[in-house]
Amino acid sequence: MKSKFYELPALSYDYKALEPYISEEQLRIHHDKHHQAYVDGANALLKKFDARKSGETFDAKAAAKELSFHVGGYLLHTLFWKNMGSPDKCGGEPDGLIAEYIEKDFGSFENFKKEYSQVAISTEGSGWAALSLCRNTNRIFIQQIEKHNVNSIPSHRIMMVLDVWEHAYYIDYKNVRPEYVEAFWNLVNWDEINRRIKVWLDSPL
Ligand code: MN
Repeated sequence: MKSKFYELPALSYDYKALEPYISEEQLRIHHDKHHQAYVDGANALLKKFDARKSGETFDAKAAAKELSFHVGGYLLHTLFWKNMGSPDKCGGEPDGLIAEYIEKDFGSFENFKKEYSQVAISTEGSGWAALSLCRNTNRIFIQQIEKHNVNSIPSHRIMMVLDVWEHAYYIDYKNVRPEYVEAFWNLVNWDEINRRIKVWLDSPL
């Protein structure tokens, strides 16, 4: 049995694909520098876990905290790239399963968009807005994530995220986070969110 390390996933679209809502410059630095930093941070940490077997000093509390930060950052960015796409093909109103959940739990897409945007805009400092689906209750929820610290609830799985760290939007929107959050709705890949919902509902408990 062999362990693995994290690798930066390539984007499934080119760096100009999210324009004019997210610029090539913004996307390049976010993916190539910031996401890469979490990959590197996670791998450095994994090396510390490996080294503790041969007796190297190991701070378990610090390691647990770093694991949440770097691995959380790695995973959330990986999800984020996937739940966006070119505005030619993405954005607009959802259809399929996600549209049914939104109608059932929020009454309308307008209500859902408003609440999700509020959660994103009101995140203090650095963090994320996340949409999750609870299989115990068949309900969708909007959560706020501080930094990259995902609170793990086993019955919930994240279906969509929006990065509201300043590094995600500062080149394009400066300090005006609400404009960036509004722009995001032109990029949401609803097909990918529907695919994730189906995988989660179909996987064994
Ligand atoms: Mn980010």
